[in-house]
Amino acid sequence: MQNTVNQSIMPVTTKIKDNGHLEIGGCDVVELAEKYGTPLYVFDEETIRKCCRQYKEAFSSYSNISTLFASKAFMTQAICAILKDEGFGLDVVSGGEIYTASSANFPMERCYFNGNNKSSEELELAIETGVGRITVDNFFEMELLNSIAQSKNIQVDVILRITPGIECHTHEYIQTGHLDSKFGFDMTQVDEAIELIQERYHNLNLKGLHGHLGSQIFETYVYSDLVEIVVAEFARIRDKFGIVLEEMNLGGGLGVQYISEDDPPSIYEIADVILTALKQNLAKYDLSEPKIVVEPGRSIVSNAGVTLYTVGSSKQVPEGKKYVAVDGGMADNPRPAMYQAKYYGIIANKANEKPAETVTIAGRYCESGDILINDAELPETEPGDIICIFCTGAYNYSMSSNYNRVPKPAGIIVQEGQSDVIIKRETYQDLISLDVIPERLKKNNCSVR
Ligand SMILES: *Cc1c(COP(=O)(O)O)cnc(C)c1O
Repeated sequence: MQNTVNQSIMPVTTKIKDNGHLEIGGCDVVELAEKYGTPLYVFDEETIRKCCRQYKEAFSSYSNISTLFASKAFMTQAICAILKDEGFGLDVVSGGEIYTASSANFPMERCYFNGNNKSSEELELAIETGVGRITVDNFFEMELLNSIAQSKNIQVDVILRITPGIECHTHEYIQTGHLDSKFGFDMTQVDEAIELIQERYHNLNLKGLHGHLGSQIFETYVYSDLVEIVVAEFARIRDKFGIVLEEMNLGGGLGVQYISEDDPPSIYEIADVILTALKQNLAKYDLSEPKIVVEPGRSIVSNAGVTLYTVGSSKQVPEGKKYVAVDGGMADNPRPAMYQAKYYGIIANKANEKPAETVTIAGRYCESGDILINDAELPETEPGDIICIFCTGAYNYSMSSNYNRVPKPAGIIVQEGQSDVIIKRETYQDLISLDVIPERLKKNNCSVR
């Protein structure tokens, strides 16, 4: 089967120019660093769109399929515009994501609202903006959502998030499908949830079930296991309650290649596994074809994004490592510190030079754990070099912080030699814009005693 964009570390438009500079989206990366400053998030539009099309194509043999982008991986108004254009919906998990989508004129009926502790304000916002489905995660939320819907005298379409009891071999922080997960109803609680909807929560319309396994998944069999479990549950619910559910949401989770050792399956393989398991299991229980929803996040944007940094100081530990420090780190990419995530990087202005030293690329933040890459093989590094770290499009900007009061980087999108800002660089003024000094502290002059 054909390779897909999640299987190569670099954006699809990546080239090395004759002058040794890296090129992405037809733009000289070193010039981008000069023009916009560093650190800089760069997104290649062609890679994102190609990935969206690969998902569409992979599932095209099934007529009733919805593809969503799990926006927590990377959410801005510009990405909403691209996904809208590609015919995707959105998996949203907060009021802020709903607000962003709605402000970008995203078709809100294509949004699914997930999360294990949605507030009543967030649920109200979802209803007001016309979010298409709300995934009910637990009994508390069911009651809350029903009372909001009741007070507005409306019906809300919901799907139940279940915990299918499948463990995938990914980092424990990003597993979600195992039995003691904080997300969703245990399989033994599904009947009670359905009874409550039938008997008490008359403002909720049950449309289907939702199971999400986790993230950065490399095994395909977990998806056929998931389909088997969810289809069996559809059949059981039909037999016990006489309810024919319409929708099966299989979540996201497909892994991507961060480093050459990573070997994720292709989007086509995943679709094939899902559709084959679906066909077999629907036939087994004599069920008609439900609507299938898939909601990849990481695999849509990760490989499309790179982060550019400028090399500053370096330190050779006598008889030890050489540290090369860059102007960003754990605040713009918390994944190495949080999950021991590994990345691949090169010197963008020396992309055609052979490795000459093994260095540890350190961030600029005040934590010893702020290391972006251990033991990177790079050409001789010098201050001013531009380091490009690949596959940073997912869960980097969306997890970024202002740790050490460093302004967040800008983000740009590149396409056929053109570059456009999609996230402005934060300023010092932005950093203090929400700060308030209470009057009494001003009066006291806040002297140190
Ligand atoms: C995070 C998440 C996704 C996307 O996961 P990826 O690993 O980024 O593809 C999909 N569905 C739900 C419910 C999620 O929480």
